[in-house]
This record gives sequence, structure tokens and C-alpha cells, in this order.
Amino acid sequence: MKQFDVVAMGELLIDFTENGTSSQGNPLLEANPGGAPCNVLAMLAKLGKSTAFIGKVGSDQFGSQLKDTLRAVGIDMRGLVTDPVVHTTLAFVHTLPDGDRDFSFYRAPGADMMLTAQELAPGLVEQAKIFHFGTLSMTHDGVRAATLCALDRAREAGVKVSFDPNLRPPLWSSMELAKECMGLGMSRCDYLKIADNEVRFFTGTEDCEEGVRLIRERYPNISVLFLTLGPDGSRAYCRGLRAEQPGFVVGTVDTCGAGDTFCGCALGYLLDHDPDQLTQSQLEELLRFANAAAALVTTKKGAIRSMPERWQIDALLNAPAGH
Ligand code: ADP
Repeated sequence: MKQFDVVAMGELLIDFTENGTSSQGNPLLEANPGGAPCNVLAMLAKLGKSTAFIGKVGSDQFGSQLKDTLRAVGIDMRGLVTDPVVHTTLAFVHTLPDGDRDFSFYRAPGADMMLTAQELAPGLVEQAKIFHFGTLSMTHDGVRAATLCALDRAREAGVKVSFDPNLRPPLWSSMELAKECMGLGMSRCDYLKIADNEVRFFTGTEDCEEGVRLIRERYPNISVLFLTLGPDGSRAYCRGLRAEQPGFVVGTVDTCGAGDTFCGCALGYLLDHDPDQLTQSQLEELLRFANAAAALVTTKKGAIRSMPERWQIDALLNAPAGH
């Protein structure tokens, strides 16, 4: 018996988002707890799944805030390490008029990239049904070695591996290295969640369908692949099946965490069903549910603390105006 449904590893940081203007005319920034892997876990926790996080924060007030958040959301923190010297990673998120985002990171260095293989909590990865990770924990040598070590442990313990590249170009010393690490993640995962722009970057083809075909051909280890298309929805590929569902039209204010919410719901569905036996209609059901949850998260700022409840997702799915 595994103790956790999903253990995720990677960045835990503060996303500063604009939230109005002060009386002196200065922008006011809201300190949102963030980081893709924990966003995924927060959605899974909403779905009643047991989760644990592996990562590093600084010994500062933001690190304390992040710990309080994980505690409140119900994510196990035994794998969370505190760096005595390097501060918690910060990201400033500028939201564009269409709800899309522009990031600037304060991470040179930031605590999340200081995690080492020696600091991995013994036996934690092995206690997962699914181990989830991305590429932010591969941008620098030490943390990349830690990620590879966790992946080795997952493989040895027969843990399924989920990968979401979550490409953030400003964090890479070279885009060649970014591509190499994306390939590394794809070569070691069972489930891949990837956004359309990442498929284009990785494969160099404009046609996403062709890009997905290339990825599946090159990495036959990927048993289920999810392609997200922003407001246009998502697709899933599994064995010979291909499913597609449109996005939900909602009052989007901030797309932060949409992909992570989608990913959390997708993994939740894979935990509840046998991924090797998924039918066409189940894949469509999975996509509709994940699209609805992801759309709801875009109606609020921030991510970890803005994950929708199951009843809210069901309400959107059953709304007469829903797709
Ligand atoms: P990422 O956040 O990883 O870049 P996407 O932007 O593709 O991923 O979004 C993930 C999912 O979130 C989409 O498949 C869709 O279901 C939902 N989504 C994203 N943007 C919107 C939007 N503006 N309106 C409604 N749903 C959205």
C-alpha cells in the first residue's frame, strides 16, 4: 500500500500579481503562493487525493508563508527543505490584457534551485502511486541531479511518472539545454501534459498534431499524452485513441495555474481509472472535467489557494450554457 497518491517535486515560490494601485499611485502587489508542482497537488487535494511535496524554500517570511499554505491546503511537507542562506524564489507576474502572463524571476539564485540529491527525504518518492515533476527542477546542475535521483527511485519502486515541461524560457542559460531537459523528462515519464506552444518549441513543427505524433513516436514510454490549447481546450492521446474537448467560456482574469489545474484533474482521473483500459468516452469525460476546473481557476487570481471545489466543477459541467 502506497502512502501517497501523488508526490510532486520542484519549485515552490511566491508569484507577485498586480492588485490595484495605492493612494500614491504605486502598483500594489499580492504575494500569491505558487509553483506548478504544488498547484497540481493543491487540485489533487481538492479531489480528496493524498499528496506530498519535495522542494526547498528560504529561511524567510515567504518561506514561512509557503509552509503555512501547504499546511492549509493539506499537502504533506516532510520533503520540504529550508535553505539557511538562499532566499525563497520570487516571480513577478505581469498579466496582459488577454489574461496571458509575462514573468520575471528573482532566482539568481533562489532557494528552489538549491535542492540537492542528498536532501531528498528517504523513502518518500517510493511511497507515491504517481511521481510528478517539471523542468524548473532541471535548470541547474545540483537540482537536476536531485530530480534524476528521484526519477531513478521512482523507476526502481515501480512508481508511475508524470511530467509537465512547464517551459519558462527566462530561467534557462540556453534554450538548447531547455530542449534537452524536456526530452529527458519525456524519455522518463508515463504521462505527459504539454501545452501547444511547448510542442511547437520542442518539435520545431507548427502543426501540433504532427508534433504530438513525433513525440509519441520518439517516446513510446508515454502511455497517456495530454495536449492543452489554452482557451480552445485540450486533447488526449492514449493507445490508438484520440479525444478532444473545447474549452469553457468563463470570465477569465488570470490564466495562472490553468495548466496545473488541468494536470491535477487529469492525474486524479488516472488514479481513479485503469489508464491501460481507458475508453474514448472516458478520455472525453476526463478532458471535459479538467477543462472545466482549469477554466474556473482562470476566473480568480493566483493558483494554490484558488483551486475549485468538485461541486463548482460539476456546476460548470452541468450549466446549460456549458459546451
Ligand atoms: P498552461 O497553463 O500550461 O500554459 P494552457 O494555457 O493550455 O496551459 O491551459 C490549460 C487549460 O486551461 C486549457 O486546456 C483549458 O482547458 C484551460 N484554459 C486556459 N486558458 C483558458 C481561458 N482563457 N478560458 C477558459 N479555459 C482556459
